[in-house]
Amino acid sequence: MPVTEVRHPLVQHKLSYLRDKETPTVLFRQLVEEVTLLLTYEATKDLPTEDVMIETPLEVAPFPRVSGKKVAICPILRAGLGMLDGVLSLISGARVGFIGLYRNEETLQPVEYYVKLPADVADRDVILLDPMLATGNSTAHAVKVVKDAGATSVRLIAIIAAPEGVERVLEEAPDVQIVVAAIDRGLNERGYIVPGLGDAGDRLYGTK
Ligand code: URA
Repeated sequence: MPVTEVRHPLVQHKLSYLRDKETPTVLFRQLVEEVTLLLTYEATKDLPTEDVMIETPLEVAPFPRVSGKKVAICPILRAGLGMLDGVLSLISGARVGFIGLYRNEETLQPVEYYVKLPADVADRDVILLDPMLATGNSTAHAVKVVKDAGATSVRLIAIIAAPEGVERVLEEAPDVQIVVAAIDRGLNERGYIVPGLGDAGDRLYGTK
């Protein structure tokens, strides 16, 4: 399965603070950014490189630089926005697209309210950001949005996933690479990941 659960001690350490309901908003926001940066390192490990000739102060020699497609980072609003700076701190030249979805709490189905993608998204490696891969309905919808716009290479960085969400996304698009910090037990009756970390958007923005 194209799913990577990053078990690195630093990722798991920071995730434990994200899960803690006593962690204040300001720290939660900082930790989301830090965990995303670490997950970005893993999610981009197969980016192609090519050797270029570099003149060091001592001699000229070939060294690898990232080549190939440029990157488009697409946070799924609103919680995905909290992950954006973590990716940008490693890929500062990336373009950014926005996919606005909210979840109808009765049907758990995504409702699209805003989409703005880079004009050349079809020529870019897309990285979708969504901290909680729960039912997978929103993420599957976001994958469809970028694929309909012509994207052929799509990765997803999430902080926590439920097995149901992973299955749903891969059913929609088996070629999507998923990188997460943890795959939790499952979903509760309200569609929340358990044990999870609660509502990521509310915890990021202090709205509850
Ligand atoms: N969205 C969240 O923010 N948390 C969950 O557990 C599920 C969906």
